[in-house]
Amino acid sequence: MILVFSSPDLDSAYVVRDLLGGNGIAAQVFNENVNRLPGALFNVTPDAWPAVYISDDSRAIEAKALIAEFEERASATESDASTKPPWTCSRCGEENAATFEICWKCGEPRED
Ligand SMILES: [Zn+2]
Repeated sequence: MILVFSSPDLDSAYVVRDLLGGNGIAAQVFNENVNRLPGALFNVTPDAWPAVYISDDSRAIEAKALIAEFEERASATESDASTKPPWTCSRCGEENAATFEICWKCGEPRED
């Protein structure tokens, strides 16, 4: 048994477990009850976070490579904001980058 992943987010732990399982690496989630208790997560230290263990220690490097790839994809999705299309200010008609919440020219808040 070897620890390959831990996160305060239980869903991430399940995604990693399924990712490893899909690649033929048997994995188990531990501490999965930890954030079923309302508000409990805020009192939980990292050593009690939901954790993913694999039973075959010899595949740890392979498992960690898959997880690294998964985390890279996850952060790539988060940075998609910078590739969203620009928006046009309803007041002055100026074009603004997707990341701007107010018009750079006249200060009008963005409309959704
Ligand atoms: Zn404007």
